[in-house]
Amino acid sequence: MFSVDRPEEAPEGLSKGHDSKDVVEKLEEIFHGKCYLCEFKDTLQPEVEHFIPQSLDSELAKDWDNLFYSCRRCNSIKSSKPEPLLDCTKEDVFSAILLDLPLRKTRLIEVSVNEGYESERAKNTAALLTLCYNREESGYQKITRSLLRDMLHRYLDKYSEYTSVLLDSESGKREKLRAEDKLERMLQPDFAFHAFWRGIFLDDEKLMKNYNHLLDPE
Ligand SMILES: [Zn+2]
Repeated sequence: MFSVDRPEEAPEGLSKGHDSKDVVEKLEEIFHGKCYLCEFKDTLQPEVEHFIPQSLDSELAKDWDNLFYSCRRCNSIKSSKPEPLLDCTKEDVFSAILLDLPLRKTRLIEVSVNEGYESERAKNTAALLTLCYNREESGYQKITRSLLRDMLHRYLDKYSEYTSVLLDSESGKREKLRAEDKLERMLQPDFAFHAFWRGIFLDDEKLMKNYNHLLDPE
Protein backbone atom coordinates (compact mmCIF):
# COMPACT_ATOMS: atom_id res chain seq x y z
CA MET A 1 0.00 0.00 0.00
CA PHE A 2 1.04 3.60 -0.46
CA SER A 3 0.28 6.89 1.28
CA VAL A 4 -1.84 9.53 -0.40
CA ASP A 5 -1.86 13.32 0.14
CA ARG A 6 -5.47 14.36 -0.11
CA PRO A 7 -6.14 18.08 -0.57
CA GLU A 8 -8.61 19.38 2.02
CA GLU A 9 -10.91 21.01 -0.47
CA ALA A 10 -13.29 18.72 -2.34
CA PRO A 11 -13.76 19.17 -6.11
CA GLU A 12 -16.83 21.31 -6.93
CA GLY A 13 -18.61 18.54 -8.82
CA LEU A 14 -18.92 16.44 -5.67
CA SER A 15 -22.25 18.13 -4.90
CA LYS A 16 -23.61 16.46 -8.07
CA GLY A 17 -22.28 13.01 -7.28
CA HIS A 18 -19.28 10.99 -6.19
CA ASP A 19 -18.45 10.05 -9.77
CA SER A 20 -18.55 13.54 -11.28
CA LYS A 21 -15.83 14.11 -13.85
CA ASP A 22 -13.70 16.44 -11.71
CA VAL A 23 -13.99 14.15 -8.68
CA VAL A 24 -12.78 11.11 -10.62
CA GLU A 25 -9.99 13.13 -12.25
CA LYS A 26 -8.81 14.51 -8.91
CA LEU A 27 -8.84 11.04 -7.33
CA GLU A 28 -6.89 9.65 -10.29
CA GLU A 29 -4.29 12.39 -9.80
CA ILE A 30 -3.81 12.10 -6.04
CA PHE A 31 -3.78 8.28 -6.08
CA HIS A 32 -1.24 8.36 -8.98
CA GLY A 33 -3.70 6.38 -11.11
CA LYS A 34 -3.32 3.42 -8.75
CA CYS A 35 -5.81 1.24 -6.94
CA TYR A 36 -5.26 2.09 -3.26
CA LEU A 37 -5.52 -1.59 -2.35
CA CYS A 38 -3.59 -3.69 -4.90
CA GLU A 39 -1.52 -0.79 -6.41
CA PHE A 40 -2.43 -1.77 -9.97
CA LYS A 41 -1.65 1.32 -12.07
CA ASP A 42 -3.70 2.68 -14.96
CA THR A 43 -6.48 0.13 -14.75
CA LEU A 44 -8.99 0.15 -17.61
CA GLN A 45 -11.77 -0.11 -15.04
CA PRO A 46 -11.22 2.53 -12.35
CA GLU A 47 -13.93 2.98 -9.75
CA VAL A 48 -14.64 5.43 -6.96
CA GLU A 49 -14.72 3.39 -3.80
CA HIS A 50 -16.47 4.34 -0.56
CA PHE A 51 -13.96 3.65 2.21
CA ILE A 52 -16.74 3.35 4.77
CA PRO A 53 -19.57 1.66 2.84
CA GLN A 54 -22.56 3.87 1.96
CA SER A 55 -24.76 1.13 3.35
CA LEU A 56 -23.38 1.84 6.83
CA ASP A 57 -23.78 5.62 6.60
CA SER A 58 -25.56 7.27 3.63
CA GLU A 59 -24.14 10.70 4.69
CA LEU A 60 -20.73 9.40 3.59
CA ALA A 61 -21.79 8.81 -0.03
CA LYS A 62 -20.61 12.33 -0.97
CA ASP A 63 -17.99 12.82 1.73
CA TRP A 64 -14.70 13.76 0.01
CA ASP A 65 -12.59 12.06 2.71
CA ASN A 66 -14.49 8.82 2.16
CA LEU A 67 -13.79 8.54 -1.59
CA PHE A 68 -10.91 6.36 -2.75
CA TYR A 69 -9.60 5.31 -6.16
CA SER A 70 -9.69 1.57 -6.83
CA CYS A 71 -9.77 -1.07 -9.51
CA ARG A 72 -13.00 -2.96 -10.16
CA ARG A 73 -11.59 -6.24 -8.85
CA CYS A 74 -10.64 -4.82 -5.44
CA ASN A 75 -13.81 -2.74 -5.16
CA SER A 76 -16.00 -5.78 -5.68
CA ILE A 77 -13.94 -7.91 -3.29
CA LYS A 78 -14.04 -5.20 -0.61
CA SER A 79 -17.78 -4.58 -0.95
CA SER A 80 -18.52 -7.72 1.02
CA LYS A 81 -16.06 -6.75 3.76
CA PRO A 82 -17.27 -3.72 5.72
CA GLU A 83 -14.66 -4.04 8.52
CA PRO A 84 -12.64 -0.87 9.33
CA LEU A 85 -9.28 -0.61 7.51
CA LEU A 86 -6.05 1.38 7.68
CA ASP A 87 -6.53 4.73 5.92
CA CYS A 88 -3.78 5.44 3.36
CA THR A 89 -4.67 9.16 3.37
CA LYS A 90 -4.04 9.44 7.10
CA GLU A 91 -1.41 6.89 8.16
CA ASP A 92 1.78 5.12 7.15
CA VAL A 93 0.23 2.08 5.51
CA PHE A 94 3.43 0.99 3.77
CA SER A 95 5.21 0.42 7.08
CA ALA A 96 2.20 -1.36 8.61
CA ILE A 97 1.73 -4.02 5.93
CA LEU A 98 4.21 -6.64 4.72
CA LEU A 99 3.83 -8.23 1.29
CA ASP A 100 5.52 -11.40 0.13
CA LEU A 101 5.47 -12.36 -3.54
CA PRO A 102 6.46 -16.03 -4.04
CA LEU A 103 8.34 -16.94 -7.23
CA ARG A 104 5.91 -19.74 -8.01
CA LYS A 105 2.71 -18.28 -9.39
CA THR A 106 0.51 -20.99 -7.92
CA ARG A 107 1.58 -19.96 -4.40
CA LEU A 108 -0.46 -17.34 -2.60
CA ILE A 109 0.84 -13.82 -2.06
CA GLU A 110 1.21 -13.47 1.69
CA VAL A 111 0.10 -10.32 3.43
CA SER A 112 0.84 -9.72 7.10
CA VAL A 113 1.01 -6.95 9.68
CA ASN A 114 4.46 -5.61 10.49
CA GLU A 115 5.77 -5.79 14.06
CA GLY A 116 4.77 -2.75 16.07
CA TYR A 117 1.75 -2.01 13.85
CA GLU A 118 -0.64 -4.62 15.22
CA SER A 119 -4.24 -3.43 15.47
CA GLU A 120 -7.66 -4.68 14.50
CA ARG A 121 -7.71 -2.35 11.47
CA ALA A 122 -4.26 -3.52 10.35
CA LYS A 123 -5.41 -7.13 10.66
CA ASN A 124 -8.54 -6.41 8.61
CA THR A 125 -6.42 -4.66 5.97
CA ALA A 126 -4.03 -7.60 5.67
CA ALA A 127 -6.98 -9.99 5.38
CA LEU A 128 -8.60 -7.89 2.65
CA LEU A 129 -5.35 -7.52 0.68
CA THR A 130 -4.86 -11.29 0.86
CA LEU A 131 -8.17 -11.63 -0.96
CA CYS A 132 -7.43 -8.80 -3.42
CA TYR A 133 -4.17 -10.43 -4.50
CA ASN A 134 -5.26 -14.07 -4.44
CA ARG A 135 -8.99 -14.57 -4.74
CA GLU A 136 -10.13 -16.64 -7.72
CA GLU A 137 -13.58 -17.80 -6.72
CA SER A 138 -15.46 -16.67 -9.81
CA GLY A 139 -14.45 -17.00 -13.47
CA TYR A 140 -13.73 -13.24 -13.68
CA GLN A 141 -11.65 -13.34 -10.52
CA LYS A 142 -9.61 -16.26 -11.87
CA ILE A 143 -8.80 -14.21 -14.98
CA THR A 144 -8.04 -10.97 -13.14
CA ARG A 145 -5.96 -12.77 -10.52
CA SER A 146 -3.89 -14.36 -13.26
CA LEU A 147 -3.41 -11.04 -15.09
CA LEU A 148 -2.44 -9.33 -11.85
CA ARG A 149 0.06 -12.05 -11.05
CA ASP A 150 1.60 -11.99 -14.54
CA MET A 151 2.02 -8.24 -14.26
CA LEU A 152 3.66 -8.55 -10.83
CA HIS A 153 6.12 -11.12 -12.12
CA ARG A 154 7.03 -8.97 -15.11
CA TYR A 155 7.96 -6.17 -12.73
CA LEU A 156 9.78 -8.60 -10.45
CA ASP A 157 11.92 -9.65 -13.44
CA LYS A 158 12.78 -6.00 -14.06
CA TYR A 159 13.61 -5.49 -10.38
CA SER A 160 15.96 -8.50 -10.53
CA GLU A 161 17.54 -7.25 -13.76
CA TYR A 162 18.35 -3.80 -12.32
CA THR A 163 19.55 -5.05 -8.95
CA SER A 164 21.81 -7.70 -10.49
CA VAL A 165 23.48 -5.00 -12.62
CA LEU A 166 24.09 -2.97 -9.45
CA LEU A 167 25.48 -5.92 -7.51
CA ASP A 168 27.68 -7.25 -10.33
CA SER A 169 31.28 -6.05 -10.01
CA GLU A 170 31.69 -6.41 -13.78
CA SER A 171 28.95 -3.88 -14.62
CA GLY A 172 30.05 -0.66 -16.30
CA LYS A 173 29.48 2.88 -15.00
CA ARG A 174 26.82 3.77 -17.58
CA GLU A 175 25.06 0.44 -17.12
CA LYS A 176 24.91 1.04 -13.37
CA LEU A 177 23.60 4.57 -13.73
CA ARG A 178 20.77 3.35 -15.93
CA ALA A 179 19.93 0.56 -13.47
CA GLU A 180 19.97 3.03 -10.56
CA ASP A 181 17.63 5.32 -12.44
CA LYS A 182 15.19 2.52 -13.27
CA LEU A 183 15.28 1.07 -9.77
CA GLU A 184 14.78 4.45 -8.13
CA ARG A 185 11.54 4.86 -10.10
CA MET A 186 10.30 1.44 -8.97
CA LEU A 187 10.74 2.33 -5.31
CA GLN A 188 8.55 5.46 -5.40
CA PRO A 189 4.92 5.55 -4.20
CA ASP A 190 3.58 6.49 -7.64
CA PHE A 191 5.05 3.34 -9.26
CA ALA A 192 2.89 0.25 -9.86
CA PHE A 193 2.93 -2.20 -6.92
CA HIS A 194 5.71 -0.13 -5.27
CA ALA A 195 5.24 -1.74 -1.83
CA PHE A 196 6.54 -5.07 -3.16
CA TRP A 197 9.74 -3.59 -4.64
CA ARG A 198 10.40 -1.29 -1.73
CA GLY A 199 9.84 -4.15 0.71
CA ILE A 200 12.32 -6.47 -1.05
CA PHE A 201 14.82 -3.62 -1.34
CA LEU A 202 14.66 -2.80 2.39
CA ASP A 203 15.37 -6.45 3.21
CA ASP A 204 18.48 -6.53 1.02
CA GLU A 205 21.54 -5.66 3.10
CA LYS A 206 23.91 -5.26 0.14
CA LEU A 207 21.60 -2.90 -1.75
CA MET A 208 20.75 -0.95 1.39
CA LYS A 209 24.44 -0.48 2.14
CA ASN A 210 25.34 1.09 -1.18
CA TYR A 211 22.10 2.29 -2.74
CA ASN A 212 19.78 3.42 0.08
CA HIS A 213 19.76 6.90 -1.50
CA LEU A 214 17.44 5.42 -4.18
CA LEU A 215 14.63 5.09 -1.61
CA ASP A 216 14.05 8.78 -1.13
CA PRO A 217 15.68 10.83 -3.89
CA GLU A 218 15.80 14.64 -3.49
ZN1 LIG B 1 -7.01 -3.20 -6.97
